[in-house]
Amino acid sequence: VSRAAPDRCPGVLALHEAADGWLARVRLPGGRLAAAQLRALADVADLGNDLVELTARANLQVRGLDEGAGEEVAARLAVAGLLPSLAHERVRNVLASPLAGRHLGALADVDGVVTRLDRELCADVALSELPGRFLFLVEDGSGVLDGYDHDLALVPGAPSDERPHDGGLELPHDAELALLVAGVDSGWRAPARDAPALAIAAARAFLARREGAWRVSELPGGPRELIDALGPVAAERQEAALTWAKAPGGLAAGRTVQRDGRVALTALVPLGRLNASQLRTLAEIGADVRVSPWRTLSLVDLPDGGVAAELIGIGLILDPDSGWAGLSTCAGLGACRSAQVDVRAAAAARATTRASGAPAEHWSACTRRCGELRGTRVTVAADGGRLLLRTPSDREERIVPDVDAALKLLREPRP
Ligand code: SF4
Repeated sequence: VSRAAPDRCPGVLALHEAADGWLARVRLPGGRLAAAQLRALADVADLGNDLVELTARANLQVRGLDEGAGEEVAARLAVAGLLPSLAHERVRNVLASPLAGRHLGALADVDGVVTRLDRELCADVALSELPGRFLFLVEDGSGVLDGYDHDLALVPGAPSDERPHDGGLELPHDAELALLVAGVDSGWRAPARDAPALAIAAARAFLARREGAWRVSELPGGPRELIDALGPVAAERQEAALTWAKAPGGLAAGRTVQRDGRVALTALVPLGRLNASQLRTLAEIGADVRVSPWRTLSLVDLPDGGVAAELIGIGLILDPDSGWAGLSTCAGLGACRSAQVDVRAAAAARATTRASGAPAEHWSACTRRCGELRGTRVTVAADGGRLLLRTPSDREERIVPDVDAALKLLREPRP
């Protein structure tokens, strides 16, 4: 695949014009946000329409900015450390397990891996030419991100059935990570501290042969072409190849006891939307915050769950049985000119009727299906004067006349 069109992925320096003003996308390697960064984002939200969105790649979007706001937005984010390299701002796409080694099922502490990968990415001038859609992924072995779409992934090298679920043990500092290329095991392994260099070498190899491709899967020879370019690996490595799950497991809302006995709180963010006031309250709590692709926030390394009331007080949801668990929409009416129905209102209605444990569900206001994660089991998309709806029991999409009919059908599924 060769894409003739220029890369229009929005960033902080390349604002995107939307229906509600100009939009800045802020990359968060590992989804990490410190208190000072939350404050800076709140200040930037004040420049826009008081709306900061969580994206399906665990980044943030500040909406409703003036066309000329980019310089001030960039200055504020740079002071907070959210813009370490102007040249690389759109290529710092590094998604990581939100609890990053703290989960009881984790096999590797990956905070340091994400930091090194981001640093090495920004240190290589040539890699600023990576497409804005190119995605690095770092999994800690907990399986939370297993199966998530990526171009290059670093994952613990042990097969999942050999993973010791032995909470409380310290993780090895030198856990071995495998390099996956678009879901295919490359055979390459390295200790955690050297693994970022493996991913960087693979990214350079992609750039050298991309010829207009934006993703590894678009190379004429697919992931194999890139793996072959990395050179031969031992035969036994090829025989013990890791397999990549079909759909990520996700991380439930609520309280998680970490390996070290401290606590992580994961909160659902309805519609993936935060305002400046919520961001400032989160900053005051002072925790290390992690954004996930499921539009959740995880506050990690808490001494206990004592801040739960403050999170609930600002409208976040800690109940894993909430109808909002796994429910998402695209930006929708008022935010996108292509929107054909009010998906945010539909989702709010839907959240009141979804059962505990309901499969992931995404509503799109047109057939571009922005923000729909691969493997989402219930999907609704507006298509002209009708809606296309698919549930786990449907082989093909059904056509329904309007939002009310879709809500009724989802509430009372029939074969
Ligand atoms: S799915 Fe369509 S309506 Fe929704 S944000 Fe994308 S382009 Fe806009």
